[in-house]
Amino acid sequence: MSLLLTLGEVLAVVNAEEPGPPRVGSGFRLTVAGAESNVAVGAARLGADVAFAGRVGDDEFGRLARTVLRGEGVGVEALVTDPGAPTGLMVKLQRLPGAVGVRYYRAGSAGSRLSPDDLPDDLLRAASVLHVSGVTPALSESARAAAFCAVEAASAAGALISFDVNYRSRLWTPDVARPVLSDLASRADILFVGEDETHVLTSVPDAPEVLLKRGGRGCAGRFGGTETVRPARRVAAVDPVGAGDAFAAGYLADRLAGRPPADALDTALATGAFAVTQPGDWEGLPRRDELALLDENPETVQR
Ligand code: ATP
Repeated sequence: MSLLLTLGEVLAVVNAEEPGPPRVGSGFRLTVAGAESNVAVGAARLGADVAFAGRVGDDEFGRLARTVLRGEGVGVEALVTDPGAPTGLMVKLQRLPGAVGVRYYRAGSAGSRLSPDDLPDDLLRAASVLHVSGVTPALSESARAAAFCAVEAASAAGALISFDVNYRSRLWTPDVARPVLSDLASRADILFVGEDETHVLTSVPDAPEVLLKRGGRGCAGRFGGTETVRPARRVAAVDPVGAGDAFAAGYLADRLAGRPPADALDTALATGAFAVTQPGDWEGLPRRDELALLDENPETVQR
């Protein structure tokens, strides 16, 4: 079966349950997430054979991340445990209702210490698709080197390279990011870019498959020179975060299963829509037999 290998940092995430500044006794909901681990989970739920490569600390959060990924059917043999650094943490606060601010505690984290030595040579050789995102090269010099080495090794072994620009302004500036993200984008066979991210690329390269994400307005796909503009699926949006990762997961799972780009785009539009209907980046993502639920009348009760 075709293997999808994703490489990146999985973090512990705590979400404030109520708006306002945190106080003694404030409630926080714990989960784990990360751009590339979200893609891994989303694709695994759709039936893809997926492995995740990265680093976590030798701590409770690292063990939780491993347990979640394994429980979702994602291969974790290339998830290294680092005894010398903690698992990274992301805190989501709501200063005003609905206005979510993200703060990272990931400088020096295990995930940011990812290096080329961590790369799983066997999986890089076996993968049909390697998925990386623009988060990893922003984490550290060694993580950046790991991302480039992985792309080179997987590409040389015949894998398709999938790259999601995923620009994070909390991690670096556009001027520092631009040459790095443009270089990675130029190596991609499948390129995911948000329409609000094109300014961090010198230009949008002519990759064989380009998916320009447009949030609640849908997506423009460019496949070998032919452009297809598609509206988003209509859903009641609750939490927009994670839509991009869900979209990539749906697209990649279908391409791995041998479906053509236009069909994979249908699935991506559906998985992106699923992601916004529920809180959390990946928790609400669908199994393949649930995709059709979007076509049903929301009043329908299944008995
Ligand atoms: P994020 O970084 O928040 O995970 P993103 O900016 O990478 O997301 P978006 O463009 O927001 O990605 O969303 C990706 C896809 O998900 C869109 O192209 C669309 O198909 C779907 N999507 C996003 N928002 C909505 C919405 N409100 N309703 C339906 N579908 C949506």
